[in-house]
Formats: sequence, C-alpha cells, structure tokens
Amino acid sequence: MDEHTEEIRKQKERLEKQRTAILNVLEDIAKEKDKFQALEKKFEDIARSSSDFLWELDEDGHYTYASGRISEILGYHPGEIIGKTPFDLMSEEEADKVKKVFDIKVAKREPIIDIKNWNLAKDGRKVCLLTNGVPVVDKRGNLIGYRGADKDITVQEEIDKAKSEFVSLASHQLRTPLTAISWYTEMLLAGDAGAINDNQKKYLSEVYDGNKRMIDLVNSLLNVSRIELGTFMVEPEPAHLEEMADSVIKELDHSIKERKLDFHKEYEASLPIINVDIKLTRMIFQNLLSNAVKYTPEGGKITLTIKKQDPNMLISVADTGYGIPKNQQSHIFSKLFRADNVMAKDTEGTGLGLYIIKSIVESSGGKIWFESEENKGTTFFVNLPLSGMQKKKGSKPLS
Ligand code: ADP
Repeated sequence: MDEHTEEIRKQKERLEKQRTAILNVLEDIAKEKDKFQALEKKFEDIARSSSDFLWELDEDGHYTYASGRISEILGYHPGEIIGKTPFDLMSEEEADKVKKVFDIKVAKREPIIDIKNWNLAKDGRKVCLLTNGVPVVDKRGNLIGYRGADKDITVQEEIDKAKSEFVSLASHQLRTPLTAISWYTEMLLAGDAGAINDNQKKYLSEVYDGNKRMIDLVNSLLNVSRIELGTFMVEPEPAHLEEMADSVIKELDHSIKERKLDFHKEYEASLPIINVDIKLTRMIFQNLLSNAVKYTPEGGKITLTIKKQDPNMLISVADTGYGIPKNQQSHIFSKLFRADNVMAKDTEGTGLGLYIIKSIVESSGGKIWFESEENKGTTFFVNLPLSGMQKKKGSKPLS
C-alpha cells in the first residue's frame, strides 16, 4: 500500500467516526425532542383539564402563553390575548387599582396571591377572576416574567353580593321596630304611662338592655354588609386623635370605675393633626378600648398610647386581661369569631367589632395587629398613615 492509499483509508475512517458521532447526536436530539413533546403534551392536557385559565407573562407584563380556557371564561381565543397585558382586559378604573397591587408584588418579586380583579369579557360581561402567580427568573436571577392561573369566581362573588344585600335589607328593616321598642321601654321606665313598681322596673330594664344589645348587633351587621358591598363612605377632615380617644374614654368611664380598672393615657406631646373620618376613627377607639375593658378582670390595668412613628401614627391599647389563646389567634379578625376563654367568662359580644375596624384601618392604608398571652394580657396596635385617610364616595356611612 502506498502512502497515498494509506492517507485515504485513514481519512475514510475519520469520516466514518464523525458520521457515527453525528448520528448519535441526532438520535439524542430526537429523544430529547420526544421527551419535550411528551412534556408539552402533558402540560397541554393539564391546561385543558384545568378549570383555571393558565398564563405566562414576559418581563413587561405581556401574555406569552394563554391556555384555551380563556375562550370559555372571557370569550377570547388565546391567540387574541398573546401580546396583550392583563390590564388591557379591565376597565380603566379597575386596571389602575389592580396595577398598583401587582406593581408592589413585581417590584419585590413576590408571588401574586389571591388578587381579585374584574375583567370585561369580549361580549361585555363582567367577569371576576382570582389571580395567583409566581415570578420566573433566569439562571442569573433576573426576573423574566410571571406564570400563574386565574380562577373564575364571578358566581361566588354574585352570591356573596346577594347575601350581603339581604343582610343589609334585613338589618335595615329590623332597626325601625327595635328603635320603637327602645323608646317605649324608656317611656315606661320614666313612668310616662303611670307609676311602676320595683319588680316591673327590673323586668323593663332587662327588656331595655336586651333590646339595646339587639340594636348594636343589627348596626354591626349593617356595617359588615356596607363594608362587603363597598358602599360605605370615608369623609376625612383634620382632627386630633387624642380628642377622639378622650371622648370614647369618657363614655367608658362608668364601666372603668365599676370594674376598678387602672386606666393610663400616654399621648406623645404635640401630636400632629391628621386627616381622618371622625366617625370611623372613633369606632377604632371604641372597639379596642371597650374590648380591653370587657376582657380585663377587676383591678386590671389598661394603657392607651398614641404616638407619631413616621410615616404613621401608632395607637396601642394594652391590657392585663384574659388574653387570647394561642390556637385561636389566627381567627381573631374573622367575622363572628369569639375566643373560648372569653365566652366561658359570660362576656357579651358579637365577634364583629374587630372585623369591622380591620376593614376600616386597611381601607385607610393602615395596619392592625396584636400580641397576646392567655391570662397575662393583650396589646392591640394600629398604624394610621400620617397622610390620612383617602376620601371615598359611598352611599352610606357606617353607624
Ligand atoms: P366582641 O368583643 O364583640 O366579641 P370583637 O370582634 O371586638 O368582638 O372581638 C373578637 C374576639 O376577640 C373577642 O370575642 C375576644 O375573644 C377577642 N378579643 C378582642 N379583644 C380582646 C382583648 N383585649 N383581650 C382578650 N380577648 C380579646
């Protein structure tokens, strides 16, 4: 074999090896492609079988993926959604509101959890979606978008609205006869219909007190329905928090003395005037202070503190009372919830006060929280922004 033939043979051998390597790579690619297609099919099956609308957004908030469910929920073909943002499907007012919440989450790269938003379907219907999503980051940790799912909760929302409207109507209707009972009992007690003996007085006082509790309950139910229907108004005006607190303390003076409670006020000197709705802010003081009085045994101590803590005013009400059992603390702001320990003490209450004031505080951009230990005491804290409450048009005040 001459040198030339040997060179050709070696080259052929090299080419053969390269061909085999290429074939192997192609085979691997085909396998990966199969795996990818199987994965894609799996995802499509999940997306098709899910009642939720699954989506993916790029870093600028445009849809890069929309599952087919969108056509049943909003009447759009997925292709019509790609390139749009979620806010393009909402009214301008709703988009502004939801965008603010989304922007805070996106800036912190936090998951989006249970954000309710009203959308306009292709045929003009209003559809309420509950959005959940997680941030998507690349290998270097840069945010490249969000992925998530939207649940259609329009029917539940409509049922909730109907329930709140019913409670509102029923409470409103109940108020008139209850007020009449109150007036007439007062008149009977005052002897307007003739002298009454001590026994009759005792029974009438029971009727009067029971009726008063019923009026309080009906008012609280009316407030809850107004909060849930979003129909309550907020009318801020410049005010001194300490003056509102003082007028509530005056109302509670009798109970404070009766229970021999040691009441302390700690107001920071020269507190600023703040723009708040006086009625709503009084409700915050009323609830926190009357709870502290109700849930602290005789001889206990209550301390009300008001101070400035930029950018907020901090109100705190500390008591040395029954406290809130650890295992029930997560329910304390839920509607109608009352902890076992205070119910066992035969205290009066509806379990609506904290739910109502939490809604007031949060709708004002503030925060409410507490620390408590059973049989040691409880401290409730409220932050109200120094910038004050936002005016909110509504048809009804809270009462
Ligand atoms: P209510 O006082 O009418 O029951 P709230 O909504 O104001 O309703 O309070 C809900 C529950 O929270 C109370 O029933 C009680 O179990 C608990 N709670 C509130 N404040 C205190 C407090 N200062 N000390 C102990 N428990 C409290």
